[in-house]
Amino acid sequence: MTRTLPILTTLLLSVFANAALATEKPFAIAIHGGAGTIKKERFTPAREAAYRAKLQESVEAGYAILEKGGTSLDALTASINILENSPFFNAGKGAVYTHDESHEMDASIMEGKTRQAGAVAGVKHIENPINLARLVMDESVHVMLSGDGAEAFAQSQGVKLVDNDLFDTKHRYKSLQRAKAKMKKAKQENKDYQAAHQSLEVEYKVGTVGAVALDKYGNIAAGTSTGGMTNKRFGRIGDSPVIGAGTFADNDSCAVSATGHGEYFIRYNVAADICARVQYQGKSIEQAGKEVIHDVLMPVGGTGGVIIIDTKGNISLPFNTKGMYRASKSNNSSTYVGIFKDD
Ligand code: ASP
Repeated sequence: MTRTLPILTTLLLSVFANAALATEKPFAIAIHGGAGTIKKERFTPAREAAYRAKLQESVEAGYAILEKGGTSLDALTASINILENSPFFNAGKGAVYTHDESHEMDASIMEGKTRQAGAVAGVKHIENPINLARLVMDESVHVMLSGDGAEAFAQSQGVKLVDNDLFDTKHRYKSLQRAKAKMKKAKQENKDYQAAHQSLEVEYKVGTVGAVALDKYGNIAAGTSTGGMTNKRFGRIGDSPVIGAGTFADNDSCAVSATGHGEYFIRYNVAADICARVQYQGKSIEQAGKEVIHDVLMPVGGTGGVIIIDTKGNISLPFNTKGMYRASKSNNSSTYVGIFKDD
């Protein structure tokens, strides 16, 4: 009897622990840091490790907020801020250069419970554009503000404007020079602008950041932040601030953040199309994401990827490029970090 008591106690404890796990509400987060020609041979082991560490830091910061009972909006904003502040990614510090050698950034955020959304486009002096998108959602009656108007709104909300050169990095400047040289050559070869731009390697365009999250209250949300595409015309707006194209969230279907050649993501309404397939065709997020990224975008030349989450905590991370910086973590799976296709 004295020996069976501890065994019984242990058994009972483990039954209760499992029951608690089974009834725990799912919560999860996934992030991306851009998709494109990301080849292993271009990385030194130290550089690869540094990227992986930053992705891990970002996903774990968001996860910690969810674990403590924070909302999906708070979690994804924290994750995105870490990537915006890192020069590795094309958002905030490290944003790509426009043709005119400055930085113009776009961001958006959407909440699945209410379908409220906020976005900013073409901002030049905002350190963390995702935070301003959130303010547009929470504190204005609008969904999208652009340029000077967005920055005036920022000031009215107490957001400090910063110098545009805060976002400068040497490696992005070199990318711009390479892109310009390629465009010049293409012009000399009489290629039209569209064809010439297509000939820029996808690497010139990567690094947009985004996050999708599910909180313990069953609400999903999505956010995306970017410097856009290297050598873009001033005033060009990509898919990232366009609700339905680069960002979408609805508790009835899924939450999506996209990265890739924005013009295609706008024309094919990528984020909303994935969620529509889930909602109206009863498809899993995995199936819907695969269809849009591989079967719809690939044949027309639209390169990129998405991160998707649903209210059950399922996560899917499809892309049609060589790689996509990505990471995820949920209450029932440990941290995953990937860069290359076969990670
Ligand atoms: N989608 C972004 C844009 O077109 C770029 C990217 O994701 O790399 O502005």
